[in-house]
Amino acid sequence: EGCREAGGKMAASGAGGLCRPGAGVALLGAAAGAPSCPHGPALLFVKTSQGKEEGRRFYACSACRDRKDCNFFQWEDEKVSETRLAAREEYNRNHQPPFTHRQNVERYKNFVLLPLSKRRFCQECQQLLLPAEWEKHSDHQFLCDISTAQLKSPSQLLYPLENKKTNAQYLFADRSCQFLLDLIIDLGFRRVLSVGTPRLHEMIQSKASQEDFRVRSLLLDIDFRYSQFYTEDEFCHYNMFNHYFFGGEAARETCRKFLYQGNGERVIMVTDPPFGGLVEALASSFKKLIAMWKETEEEGRNNQEMPMFWIFPYFFESRILEFFPGFSMMDYQVDYDNHALYKHGKTGRRQSPVRIFTNLTPSMIVLPVAEGYRFCTICQRYVSSGNKHCEICNSCTSKDGRRWKHCVLCKKCVKPSWFHCNNCNCCALQSHTCEKTDAGCFVCGKAGHKRSTCPSLSCT
Ligand code: SAH
Ligand code: ZN
Ligand code: ZN
Ligand code: ZN
Ligand code: ZN
Repeated sequence: EGCREAGGKMAASGAGGLCRPGAGVALLGAAAGAPSCPHGPALLFVKTSQGKEEGRRFYACSACRDRKDCNFFQWEDEKVSETRLAAREEYNRNHQPPFTHRQNVERYKNFVLLPLSKRRFCQECQQLLLPAEWEKHSDHQFLCDISTAQLKSPSQLLYPLENKKTNAQYLFADRSCQFLLDLIIDLGFRRVLSVGTPRLHEMIQSKASQEDFRVRSLLLDIDFRYSQFYTEDEFCHYNMFNHYFFGGEAARETCRKFLYQGNGERVIMVTDPPFGGLVEALASSFKKLIAMWKETEEEGRNNQEMPMFWIFPYFFESRILEFFPGFSMMDYQVDYDNHALYKHGKTGRRQSPVRIFTNLTPSMIVLPVAEGYRFCTICQRYVSSGNKHCEICNSCTSKDGRRWKHCVLCKKCVKPSWFHCNNCNCCALQSHTCEKTDAGCFVCGKAGHKRSTCPSLSCT
């Protein structure tokens, strides 16, 4: 059960959607005075049926799409006793990581002083070990001789939290990561706010010692394991679904300082959130980060937006544009290391559906010609080689890199595998079963469209 359309697809590939049992659940958002779970303030949801709100509103964890990871639940109108509140606070405290970030920084300092032969990493606890702790981990698997190079690539040392729906950690393939960094440098940015992009952060950090390399990065991520490798100026434990800084005001201040563009050092935010997630919750957090960026300048950047790359699958395009109408989707296919489905097309492998959404002028985003991208002078942007300019739509219309075809009846371009169905009065796969429109959409329950054209491709 759970979410059927987009979420179903994602669930099959491991990145779970924020789909709760029964699927018909809508996010109402962050609410003032919301109760907290170990992941910060909970979000308000409501059960829906046929697209209409129905039944009681409730709070649930913002970060965890699996009840096994966090089972926080509270009715909006529920009276919670003092005893239960106290117990909850106690629970939240107990469910914080064993070491604070500050302690982890101290531990790291001691760790790098050790000779190679004494540098161990516990694979079960995902923790760098100091010799005094070996005993406690004696029946755990561990790695020895942890080199400086390994410490500089924590994303290789730590296992990706991909099985956990909560983190859905899919790491960039080296080629895509290098492409992003080159692009950022060519565009003249000096600071990267890396929100859920540990591998990009790591690539930047590892080059930071090079003399002519001036780019800096601050990583915001919910994966606290990274606090073992980065100082409090390099990493903030952060929840991007509710804009929560686990490190409180000090961490918030670190972020604010980083966003301040002293010496004309321009900032770009790059984010690659879990795909199943609540687009509206992400958008609301990103708007708060943008607001933070705006506040750092006295003169105000009222008419400006913080430059941003939001990396997300192409089928979320309409959802992202709902919240950020000025964004455009680039054709570049972002590849991942540990995601079999999302690797680059050539040599018969599957094509990645993941794209870059940006508020920068599309013509500035130069895509590699060597990988088959070309510049369309009419659209003024780089497109996939298979993406042909449609004279009728007057744009390069393909979303997935394949050549799309124009349907005169639908008055738009459609996937090559689709045919116009007179019954449904739109294009669909030949093998589709005609659906009665008045029965309402299978995804959102609203009447007037079918699931193939549902505007709310997230599962809420
Ligand atoms: N491709 C990126 C990783 C993207 S995977 C790279 O290679 O750098 C998604 C990332 O978002 C993971 O690092 C994960 O830990 C983080 N994440 C997941 N849920 C989050 C949340 N609620 N708040 C902040 N970060 C989160
Ligand atoms: Zn939680
Ligand atoms: Zn067309
Ligand atoms: Zn039909
Ligand atoms: Zn729908």
